[in-house]
Amino acid sequence: MIEDKNPQRTPLSELGEFGLIEHLTNHIEIKQPSTIKGIGDDAAILDFEGKKTVVSTDLLVEGIHFDLSYVPLKHLGYKAVMVNLSDIYAMNAVASQITVSIAVSNRFPVEALEELYDGIKMAAKIYDVDIIGGDTTSSNRGLIISVTAIGYAEEDEIVYRDGAKEKDLLVVSGDLGGAYLGLQVLEREKEVYKVNPNTQPDLDKYSYVIERQLKPEARKDIQQLLKKLDVKPTSMIDISDGLSSEIIHLCKQSKVGINLYEDKIPLDPTIISTCEEFSLNSTTVALSGGEDYELLFTINQDDYPKIKANPNLTVIGHVLDEKSGMALVTRANERIELKAQGWNPMKG
Ligand code: ADP
Ligand code: MG
Repeated sequence: MIEDKNPQRTPLSELGEFGLIEHLTNHIEIKQPSTIKGIGDDAAILDFEGKKTVVSTDLLVEGIHFDLSYVPLKHLGYKAVMVNLSDIYAMNAVASQITVSIAVSNRFPVEALEELYDGIKMAAKIYDVDIIGGDTTSSNRGLIISVTAIGYAEEDEIVYRDGAKEKDLLVVSGDLGGAYLGLQVLEREKEVYKVNPNTQPDLDKYSYVIERQLKPEARKDIQQLLKKLDVKPTSMIDISDGLSSEIIHLCKQSKVGINLYEDKIPLDPTIISTCEEFSLNSTTVALSGGEDYELLFTINQDDYPKIKANPNLTVIGHVLDEKSGMALVTRANERIELKAQGWNPMKG
């Protein structure tokens, strides 16, 4: 589906490992005052001037986390950075640096890695983080990318997963389920393409969900918005695995229960129509889909007036005591226990 628009294929062996590192990293600029030394020595040096340092890392493996038959390398690079920045923002910290490590086989030409780095550099630029190092090595066949994100926060600004209290409100940013549906559309197109490589898919009506899958944005804006509204969440997590399992993490670590209201779960109209087309239950998709990279957090009820008018934030639940358990309150007003994998198979 993704045509090779760049017919030039320079073999990696032409540059060698050091030549490749130099080629991929030569125009990387340093902007953060906390970056004392970036790429070029044995280690980078950072100075956060007494603030707490926040670190998060992720590993993405070809065939497990991404499929290059429909994921453009530029998007992959962008997403690999987003996944990590999202974790830093979920601590209510400022992301400031990343390191990028890649393992590649000679199946990839230099041009492919340039594309990957275009996406990585674009993400770093937009989100204002410095690329301060990494590692480059070979793999037998697949592509492996690991990004480590580093950030900082004052000690009293940091928000953990374990701070939710009874009577707090559960809030989510944006809308849910899009990334999973985008993946369903792309997987379907891949099968269609296998049968008939000449079909030109019309994916316009799926552009929102495909973008949610291929080019997610970490919610730096939400973190900044909360600061502006003077709301400090009592607990927070980012939604990488699906609403249900993230709620369970928050509740277990905070030792509380929850009522999650089905009719409050934010769904884009495209999500509802795509669910109908795929015969999927939109609640199940939101609960179990994953990869939305929205922020899920709890706030004290006193802060409700500050957030209630904001279209980017939706109150979806109510924190209970631990023994009340974790449940979805359905549209029919039934209380169903929340399960990490969703309460049904993905069909609904
Ligand atoms: P070492 O042999 O000490 O691991 P390298 O030769 O691998 O050092 O790396 C040289 C410099 O280039 C270091 O600053 C390292 O962090 C950086 N670097 C290596 N690979 C990458 C990469 N893929 N992306 C960004 N920086 C990299
Ligand atoms: Mg190295």
